Amino acid sequence: MPAAPPIPRAPGPPPGQAVRTPAPAPTATPARRPAPPPSGTVPVVAATVLFVSVVGVMAELGWIAGSRGLTLADLGDRALSLFDGLGASAQRLAASLGGDVWAGWKEVVLNPWYWAFLAVLCVLQWRFPARRELPTVSVGLGQDLVWFLTSTLLSVTVVAAWLAVLDVAWVGALGGWSLDLRDELGRWGLPLLALVVADLMGWLSHYLHHKVRPLWYFHAVHHSQEEMNILSDSRQHVIETMITATLVFVPARALGLDAPAASALAFLGVYVGAFIHANIRTNLGPARFLVISPQAHRVHHSAAAEHIDTNFGVIFAFWDYLFGTRYHDDDEYPTTGIHDRSFPLEQRANPLALAGSWLRQNAYPFRRLAER
Ligand SMILES: [Zn+2]
Ligand SMILES: [Zn+2]
Repeated sequence: MPAAPPIPRAPGPPPGQAVRTPAPAPTATPARRPAPPPSGTVPVVAATVLFVSVVGVMAELGWIAGSRGLTLADLGDRALSLFDGLGASAQRLAASLGGDVWAGWKEVVLNPWYWAFLAVLCVLQWRFPARRELPTVSVGLGQDLVWFLTSTLLSVTVVAAWLAVLDVAWVGALGGWSLDLRDELGRWGLPLLALVVADLMGWLSHYLHHKVRPLWYFHAVHHSQEEMNILSDSRQHVIETMITATLVFVPARALGLDAPAASALAFLGVYVGAFIHANIRTNLGPARFLVISPQAHRVHHSAAAEHIDTNFGVIFAFWDYLFGTRYHDDDEYPTTGIHDRSFPLEQRANPLALAGSWLRQNAYPFRRLAER
């Protein structure tokens, strides 16, 4: 995509139009700080995690092949049938687009509980704000609404299509094999295990998006929000969504989740995402050791040097304790944002301006990659 020119900062407000509220000069964590987030080289830890993951997946595939009594020749046949399967993916894609994903999204989001949940979060934001200067209705919320609508559209089309292709590849390579743990784990045990494993893969994907610079450019879109709100989780580049979906797909499919369970798992994230991005002053007390709080995730979104690369967790907090990435103070509520002043941050709330900044924000990672 062509390079997008940055929107000039701090112009005078056009008459009659809402403008982004300039953040007051914060004490410890200014909104735009002059230091790049990830280092230029891939850290040893990230490379090690990636290596161990690849070796783990290879070992798992070898174990699956062994346990099914497959030989090398069988695997060759499977590889050939994989190409056949990919040819048939268009049919499965059509079923997927109009079927499970869309139905799951409608069930989770287009129901009164979801909107009641958002309403409760709005009341909590108003009554117990993490930062008082952030309005409930802001330019940032308007931009996140655009992201919410477009990310949904992309999830039920592009991401669903990608998952359908992955599914065909899985069936082609492994004959649709999956662990059958339903008897051992029971009706609730299997989705719970899948939730924990999927959250670990989410943690890994998040970690890599911070440590590998090309991935950071895509994830920086999510971190650009300076007015955190109930819809900020939707501010996510589709490339990042697809990478995370791929990492989560493998364990979910290996565990043999059926479509309703997988969709419930995927859309639980909609509720969690709304909660942890809300401008609410809570660290959840003792529960903070188990699950991510709005306070912990706010620290993750901070660009202050001491907060960089901490609190990667999405649902469960224990991964950060386990991997040593948990920030030590659970009472800080910093400002949020990124350092890159060339990022096309939304400035005006009118729909055309928001559509334009949405396009420029989507182009941002490609522009940064082209500049390298
Ligand atoms: Zn992040
Ligand atoms: Zn976030």
